Amino acid sequence: MLRRLEFFLALAALPGALGAFLAWRGSGPVAIALSCYGVGLAGLAAFFLRPPAELRALAAAAAGRERESALRREELQTRVDFLSAEREISLVLNEDVDFRTIFERVLAIAAETLGGDVELWMLDGDALVLRAARRAGRTEFDLPSKEDRRIRQCFEGGKVLLDSEEGRFHALAPLQKDREIVGVARISTPVEGGAAAREAQMRVLDLHLDEFSKFLALALKTPDLYTRAVQDGLTGLWTKRHFLSQGQLAMEAARRYGEPLSLIMVDVDHFKKVNDTHGHQAGDRVLKGVAEILKKKVRGGSVFRYGGEEMAVLLPKTDGASAADAAERLRKAVDAHKIAGIKITASFGVAEVDGSMADPGALVERADQALYRAKEAGRNRVVVGAGPGPESVPTRRFQRTG
Ligand code: GH3
Ligand code: MG
Ligand code: MG
Repeated sequence: MLRRLEFFLALAALPGALGAFLAWRGSGPVAIALSCYGVGLAGLAAFFLRPPAELRALAAAAAGRERESALRREELQTRVDFLSAEREISLVLNEDVDFRTIFERVLAIAAETLGGDVELWMLDGDALVLRAARRAGRTEFDLPSKEDRRIRQCFEGGKVLLDSEEGRFHALAPLQKDREIVGVARISTPVEGGAAAREAQMRVLDLHLDEFSKFLALALKTPDLYTRAVQDGLTGLWTKRHFLSQGQLAMEAARRYGEPLSLIMVDVDHFKKVNDTHGHQAGDRVLKGVAEILKKKVRGGSVFRYGGEEMAVLLPKTDGASAADAAERLRKAVDAHKIAGIKITASFGVAEVDGSMADPGALVERADQALYRAKEAGRNRVVVGAGPGPESVPTRRFQRTG
């Protein structure tokens, strides 16, 4: 409205002034009529050249819609990003890899999707500890840490918290597993742009973090399931299932690099009698004790609980003779200790991989045969299984079987 008036005044000022001047000078009616005609023309031009109000309203509405659809597009893109990150996480979880690999990949995906550093604080006893963190593209585990007020607040409140301090923006999300909060994920990003950018960042996290943190919690649960499948609950040794996959990998590596690989099978002597005499619980303590000794004494290898009271030691880069030496050290160590107040001995069968073995099963069979001979020969001893290859000639100190 104001613009129309200004336009009219600007257009009418000149002929108006001219008309007044001519009237004062006493000019004829034709000159005055011409000035009035100029003023009228300016009025008409102002009227016809004004931007119509409906047009202005239309333009404003179109601009508003444009802004809204850009926002919507952005939101949809974010949703797609989050969904594909969640899908990627579920794919990682289906792989049979150890928990560190799972954490590493899941944290990398989370950091990329959320656009910042990610920390996972997990409940350990009563305290929350920094279990893993992704910072500047690197994942670190079990860092020295002290929980702060916000972590505790998020954990106890069970809700997403958003705040900013010292030029950084923080989002904290509770990690819920089986209806129980087991930890907190903290995402921190540098504050970029002005208040509007910060607002947008907050809105995105507020919209998606709740759901995304459920995937993080799932990712934490899976290593737990995985650990249960590969780690024996009683002894803490690796399970037979894990032996089968690790044995296969170790055999492939040995073949590829032309390195030796050996296996020791260990069986507690007269263990049934331990159970019968001292009870099943004492038997369990004995198994734990033997496992402890093996774990402590084995160097450069992995110890598995293969069956009830049968354990296996996989020794990469170790030939049969060195494995026999290692077995003898283990035998002596078991023999030297009373476990749970009970005198215990164990028998050991040793085998080295050779070209005739197709899978870990064949290696176990060879070691088992040697173990059987050790039992037959009176127990509490080491026997090396001999194969067809020249590398499996046993050392003098040990009995051999074939
Ligand atoms: P050998 O010297 O010939 O090995 O005799 P053994 O008595 O040790 O062998 P056998 O295989 O006859 O007995 C193994 C026993 O181990 C039988 C089983 O009840 C016991 N056992 C298996 N698993 C467990 C376990 O987890 N805890 C306890 N306490 N006993 C177990
Ligand atoms: Mg036994
Ligand atoms: Mg047995």
